[in-house]
Amino acid sequence: MASIPSRLHLGFFPTAFHELPQLSTQLNGPQLFIKRDDLTGLALGGNKTRKLEFLLADAQEKGCDVIVTAGAAQSNHCRQTAAAAAKLGLTCHLMLGGAAPDRVNGNLLLDELFGAHIIWCGDNRKGENIPSHIEALQQQGKKPYLVPYGGSNHIGAISFYTAFEELSQQVDLKNFTRIIFASSSGATHAGLILGAKQFAPHVEVMGIKIDKESAAEQPFSDVVYTLAEQTNREMALGLSVSRKDVILNNRFTGSGYGVVGELEKSAIQLLAQSEGILLDPVYTARAFGGMIEMIRQGEIATGEKVIFWHTGGAPALFSYAEAIRSS
Ligand SMILES: *Cc1c(COP(=O)(O)O)cnc(C)c1O
Repeated sequence: MASIPSRLHLGFFPTAFHELPQLSTQLNGPQLFIKRDDLTGLALGGNKTRKLEFLLADAQEKGCDVIVTAGAAQSNHCRQTAAAAAKLGLTCHLMLGGAAPDRVNGNLLLDELFGAHIIWCGDNRKGENIPSHIEALQQQGKKPYLVPYGGSNHIGAISFYTAFEELSQQVDLKNFTRIIFASSSGATHAGLILGAKQFAPHVEVMGIKIDKESAAEQPFSDVVYTLAEQTNREMALGLSVSRKDVILNNRFTGSGYGVVGELEKSAIQLLAQSEGILLDPVYTARAFGGMIEMIRQGEIATGEKVIFWHTGGAPALFSYAEAIRSS
């Protein structure tokens, strides 16, 4: 028997699912659909809402009073964590990469509005400073709860197993061929792999890698595999996961994390002007642009039915205004 941990209600689920008819016609390609996790309803939405429903339930069960997490200055994860903590009456400490900017906008502005306490960490945008900060809080008598970078551990990942279940109850997945999404810290990817195994094993789950891989890090496909396997084990899902299940497309990492190029710009314009839907500059524009490129190259066949899983992030558009508008 699977043992799914307890869950809070922070967003509005199921999120919408619909077709992209204008875009499909325009591309003369496969039939395209979209799962709208940009509309989770918490603080302008995004995929981290799902993870936080499980992570913060765990924090409450453990009696924690300070939520600590990390990310980039324009982190969608940090913005949603700050909002969720505010709603639950918890203090939120955000360890952000870089230094305090002159102009505060986008997600960072929202972090402030939600009352988060911001600690600038220079080059350490992935939570390298968290352990020492947690220790300092404990010495002050606080009970900190660590939400890992991107909310990506097995507790975060289970939320995308349940998200897949949600999708399978919303639409008959019989004739669908793949789900494509932005993959960065791993829990969305790991959870969707497990969900597909359980609820629609014929559907290919393809993550488009967002970050450039550095030689010093564990290969990202290993990270996803390990997380999927750990989640499978911890939650007693009883599935059999193999490395072959991790389908990761790393051809679109461009000039690195958060660098907006032609691919991202044209993806943002294409979806905005065909369907009136916004992508974010860092994650979904890269993944959507990659999908469009695969369609144009014929790697995704015309007869397919493809779902783009929109993971949110539009608040960052405003802080990237110059990069998006420049031609
Ligand atoms: C965090 C994030 C992702 C990546 O999800 P992971 O679970 O970290 O891989 C994708 N899109 C947006 C908008 C995000 O904020």
